[in-house]
Amino acid sequence: MSRFFSRRHASLTPYTPGEQPRAGDFIKLNTNEAPYPPSPAVSEALASGVAGRLNLYPDPAGTALRSKLADYHGANARNIALGNGSDETLAFIFLAFFDGERGVVFPDVTYGLYPVLASLYGVPYSEIPVDGTLAVRAEDYCGARENVVLANPNAQTGIALPTSDIERIAASNRERVIVVDEAYADFAGLTAVPLTQKHDNLIVVRTYSKSRFMAGARLSYAVGHEDLIADLETIRCSFNPYNVNSVTLEAGAAAIDSGEYYKRHWELITDARRRCSETLRTLGFELTDSRANFLFTRHPKVPGRTLFDRLRGAGVLTRRFDRPERIADWLRITVGTGAQMETLAGLMKEIVLTEGGYDA
Ligand SMILES: *Cc1c(COP(=O)(O)O)cnc(C)c1O
Repeated sequence: MSRFFSRRHASLTPYTPGEQPRAGDFIKLNTNEAPYPPSPAVSEALASGVAGRLNLYPDPAGTALRSKLADYHGANARNIALGNGSDETLAFIFLAFFDGERGVVFPDVTYGLYPVLASLYGVPYSEIPVDGTLAVRAEDYCGARENVVLANPNAQTGIALPTSDIERIAASNRERVIVVDEAYADFAGLTAVPLTQKHDNLIVVRTYSKSRFMAGARLSYAVGHEDLIADLETIRCSFNPYNVNSVTLEAGAAAIDSGEYYKRHWELITDARRRCSETLRTLGFELTDSRANFLFTRHPKVPGRTLFDRLRGAGVLTRRFDRPERIADWLRITVGTGAQMETLAGLMKEIVLTEGGYDA
């Protein structure tokens, strides 16, 4: 730390992203990226001359993409604010709605950026423990009297709350904002977006990184009541009015037109999720009921660190978390192609056999 670093941030611990190896031949199952490229329409849109217009600033309002997303969700463009990835959209939401007096609650097992953003902005937060099955208990958030952030399906576990629970939480806490981070919702086939028309305190965050296979493009959006969205736009335009670049705006619109492509590939991913889960269960692994594009699993006889290290040694990257401590033995494994998941399952079998955890 230099002697110039603001004292305000002296105790900040930044978020640690999953490894993005620059070299080596890894099967990358550690950051929930898709194993497939975005739809062909995305490449076509990018080949149609956007590079020649990079001399110009992008449309700061993202008008074309917002109206496309509004049609897709049966909403109005005034209900949508674009972001440079949902990490940014979440940062704008924290800045807009949370402060020293109006803190935030979220589960203790969830996306690790939430406590980092709270610390960055000096927002008091508390972490509500998930239950013994690692599930979020909706009752814990009903009438919370604080702002609420929930990933649904939840990060790390993939467990989903029914949208009726989201509605109960929003209805029980009308003076605070309920944020639903739907990074994985397409894989679960659920969304709280329609509820935003009825509940003016509900805001849903969606990203292109996971289910639109465009993590490199950095694109996200929030959907909510037009007053909430107007506040978010005030923050966005005070921070970076050109937050979404013109290449990404084009790509994002093309992806929305490719419904069939995405539906087909979401099915490939959920099929691979189901098959790999079944195989891991026969090896003695315990799994959460993940509705996302990843598995969350542990083996009763092999420590998480051992699984992680041995997979990495064999060229397969996964993710493990030290905190909270009770998930330290769990691995989060992105669902890749069927072939990648077979390689993973084969390695798991070998690891479990040699670590003495398999008595079949
Ligand atoms: C991946 C992820 C994000 C971040 O997505 P970007 O749009 O790439 O910034 C946000 N929330 C959750 C729960 C995620 O898993």
